Amino acid sequence: MTDRPIRVRYAPSPTGHLHIGNARTALFNYLFARHNNGTMVLRIEDTDTKRNIADGEKSQIENLHWLGIDWDEGPDKGGDFGPYRQSERKDIYLKYVNQLLAEGKAYESYKTEEELQADREAQQANHEMPHYVYEYEGLSEAEKQAKIEAAKAKGLTPVIRFHIPADKTYEWQDIVKGDISIDGNTIGGDFVILKRDGMPTYNFAVVIDDHLMEITHVLRGDDHIANTPKQMAVYDAFGWEAPVFGHMTLIINGATGKKLSKRDENVLQFIEQYRELGYLPTAMFNFITLLGWSPKGEDEIFTKKEFIKLFDEHRLSKSPARFDQKKLEWVNNQYVKKTDPSELAALALSNLIEAGRIAKDPDPKTIEWTRQMISLYIPQMSYTAQITDMSSIFFDDRDSLTEDELKELADDNALPVIKAVAEKLHHLDTFAAYFVNELVNSVRLSSGVKGRKLYMPIRIATTRHMHGPQLAETIELMGRDKVLANIDKTIAEMTK
Ligand code: GLU
Repeated sequence: MTDRPIRVRYAPSPTGHLHIGNARTALFNYLFARHNNGTMVLRIEDTDTKRNIADGEKSQIENLHWLGIDWDEGPDKGGDFGPYRQSERKDIYLKYVNQLLAEGKAYESYKTEEELQADREAQQANHEMPHYVYEYEGLSEAEKQAKIEAAKAKGLTPVIRFHIPADKTYEWQDIVKGDISIDGNTIGGDFVILKRDGMPTYNFAVVIDDHLMEITHVLRGDDHIANTPKQMAVYDAFGWEAPVFGHMTLIINGATGKKLSKRDENVLQFIEQYRELGYLPTAMFNFITLLGWSPKGEDEIFTKKEFIKLFDEHRLSKSPARFDQKKLEWVNNQYVKKTDPSELAALALSNLIEAGRIAKDPDPKTIEWTRQMISLYIPQMSYTAQITDMSSIFFDDRDSLTEDELKELADDNALPVIKAVAEKLHHLDTFAAYFVNELVNSVRLSSGVKGRKLYMPIRIATTRHMHGPQLAETIELMGRDKVLANIDKTIAEMTK
């Protein structure tokens, strides 16, 4: 553990939209920083220019904000350790590359892609692990220089490689995994730190930045474990103290048990997709925090404030986190039930517009109607886009009833009950749920029909569906014209 003030970073490469796995990394760093009154840094690792996507950075920032994650320093905020975009730090990397060159800890490498490929093939044939073969092996300094001059004369541009010291073991105490020890000879040999385009590689830039930005703890996915010894070698070369590392276990698809891969089409994996479906950010925050971390006890619903208070990096799980879609829906439903219906209505409205159920730019009456309609479904709803299917009774005009529905209407009392209800609805002064309930009661009393034999025919005739939310409220929201038209249609179907 370090006694420096705690500084952590989330360092996305803007090569795509915010993925669940990255969001989790951001979130754990955020909780760790806030729990310890530390500093959270956002750093954009955009040196792999071919893989960057337009708006990648913007999308990361927007979606992180949507989730409720903020930071103290970053490209959008500034800070004393900037710039916070790696593409703007090229001069800084160059300075350190030159230092290593001057100290003989790095060198110009002219091996071509073809030569490297030939090495790899030979290694494969010998059942060796792929590794870089030192191109100046056995050469004197003068011979080495001559080889370099010859390559230059051919117009070749070098990459810069870092000398990995021989026979070194890299060891660290990982916050999540405990003691880790990796034999330096398995790293793959001297690796590139500066590419032909003048951009540093990830393993080099990350060390320079983490050191200069005074990062004390690096919490990241365990797909980076193999990179850590390379980074430690660079720390050693400069004589710098490495941060404390914590490598979080991967996320697996709960349904298949396989590693959650971006190609897995059965699971939505980008925060944006959940946002579009009307999932609530507070619920997503809660759900993602429990992916590979858990507090003591059985409770599963916590506010951000509670999570910050409870967060303990030693409770990060050592076994893979299961992404369970059912649980995600359950968590969201817990939040939906607690959320102001107006807020849900605003989300649902955009889902309904998207689905073509409601015209764009709805008037205040439609907005209020949606608010009331959605409140009927809140208890069952996980996310607001479900409203499109759930509320189909308000939008679909069904020409014929199902067999099951017709069966419910086969009873002798059904038609008189429906006719009595129609008559009363026609004359109802105030077309509102309260009065609809009174009206149904009065039909119950006058007809002597009760229970399912009373309610089912009324429900089917008024809504043309045997399932739906509370009947009186549904009738009110459908409005008199539509309900009476539904009844006419049903009577015609019953009597033909
Ligand atoms: N840019 C790297 C990534 O997105 C960051 C890795 C790290 O945290 O060191 O995977």
